[in-house]
Amino acid sequence: MAVTMDAIVSLCKRRGLIFQSSEIYGGLASTWDYGPIGVELKRNVKDAWWRAMVYERDDIEGLDAAILMHPQAWVASGHVANFSDPLVDCKSCKRRFRQDHLPNYIGVRLRSAEMPTDVGLTVTIAADSFDDAMKKIKQGKEWSSKPKGYWTADQLEPEHVVKVCPECGGELTEPRQFNLMFKTHLGPVEDSGSVVYMRPETAQGIFVNFESVMTTMRRKLPFGIAQVGKSFRNEITPGNFIFRTREFEQMELEFFCKPGDKCQPGERDDMQWWEHWKEERTNWYTRYGIRRENLRLREHAPDELAHYAKGCVDVEYNFPIGWQELEGIANRTSYDLTQHMEHSKKDLRYFDQERKEHYVPYVIEPSAGADRGTLAFLCDAYREEEVEGKEPRKVLKFHYSLAPIKCAVFPLLKNRPELVEKARKLAHDLKQSFYTVYDDTAAIGKLYRRQDEIGTPFCVTVDVDTMTDGQVTLRNRDSMSQDRIPLEKVESVVQEQLTAARR
Ligand code: ATP
Repeated sequence: MAVTMDAIVSLCKRRGLIFQSSEIYGGLASTWDYGPIGVELKRNVKDAWWRAMVYERDDIEGLDAAILMHPQAWVASGHVANFSDPLVDCKSCKRRFRQDHLPNYIGVRLRSAEMPTDVGLTVTIAADSFDDAMKKIKQGKEWSSKPKGYWTADQLEPEHVVKVCPECGGELTEPRQFNLMFKTHLGPVEDSGSVVYMRPETAQGIFVNFESVMTTMRRKLPFGIAQVGKSFRNEITPGNFIFRTREFEQMELEFFCKPGDKCQPGERDDMQWWEHWKEERTNWYTRYGIRRENLRLREHAPDELAHYAKGCVDVEYNFPIGWQELEGIANRTSYDLTQHMEHSKKDLRYFDQERKEHYVPYVIEPSAGADRGTLAFLCDAYREEEVEGKEPRKVLKFHYSLAPIKCAVFPLLKNRPELVEKARKLAHDLKQSFYTVYDDTAAIGKLYRRQDEIGTPFCVTVDVDTMTDGQVTLRNRDSMSQDRIPLEKVESVVQEQLTAARR
């Protein structure tokens, strides 16, 4: 059964993963707060990315650059001039849409012979063409404003057709360009000289630090710089939960390499590194639990490519809202460093010892969204299962490394102080090794269900027999198997499985 966005949103709210931001004030549109369980999930996603990039490879360094940057950096990057979307407004309801996201809604002015001459009826209908609209009108289906029984569809004839507001059928303005960067002011004076931008991507913080990282870490090409952090875009049409928001986190790598004509025999050139990163990034998603059939690579058509890019693919995921971009992987050539060289007047070229030559490196950029990634991992992990002889269950079958809580400990009977004490002590001890919680606020079946819904892979129950045989019940989230094991073995048994899953 395909998971719906509503099921995900409702689970996230009910189980403390993600809440509407500022909800007590009525909420702020398209902004979300990660609750106690969600913050762990997103942190685990970012950690898994960092581990794969920085810890498991020896050609990548980490960085945490400031959100606010010198405003010239955004002139150099092209964002001040070009980081804009075409925007249209509805003249009636004042809603705003991105022209390229606007679904085809067609307004058809309908008349019937029985109508007084000054009366007409406008129907707003989702359709790709006029013929398509008329077909749907004749079928009398899918009308957003129906003629309330006065006229049947076949009594009505079309008068004219326009592209209209999908919300109210109102007339739309011509498109205008709208810059997506949030502006603010540095210091107390709000004049044009103090304008700074909230970064719309983390990448530029990497480019401006390229030289410092290379020198201090004594790096030679090829090498990369990885960064995770907040980005801000004043999106015109945010929505679909955490898929598109105005404040979000990115996980970006800029991988600097030699252009083809500077490579020695046997060295990978920029296009080979691009291929390498397409494969690596796809493998990362599947390694952490995304089913391969829910991922695809979509190569950008030549007219979609930025003028400086040699190639770009989107890693797309089959979200409940359809196939959408999860990450972009581009060969950005020497564009960014060249731009920063020109605007900063600093030499950012690489000195190739073997060739005794200076040149600007090429860069491959895998740029992923941490929130979009988190949403994809959530959707892929979500299952509603029939459990034999028991109530059906909802379960998040996260990869163990992404699971917010690794282990939960319960006493079978909360009115037995010796069981409570033993369970509490066990939970406390396990916390030293992995995130463990103690819970005794419901009956055991309910406690299991609760942990299933937030994806906890292991539950441990301390019961009356534990007091005499020193054994506890270890339950696995996926198989629901229940094994008796010695209490002092819980730590090593769980740890072993967590480590094995990570490898
Ligand atoms: P889109 O076409 O969806 O607006 P984009 O192509 O502008 O995305 P990039 O600039 O390539 O996105 O950013 C890299 C990644 O950052 C995206 O693949 C996505 O995962 C994430 N991202 C970009 N914009 C947003 C946003 N508004 N909300 C959440 N994540 C975002």
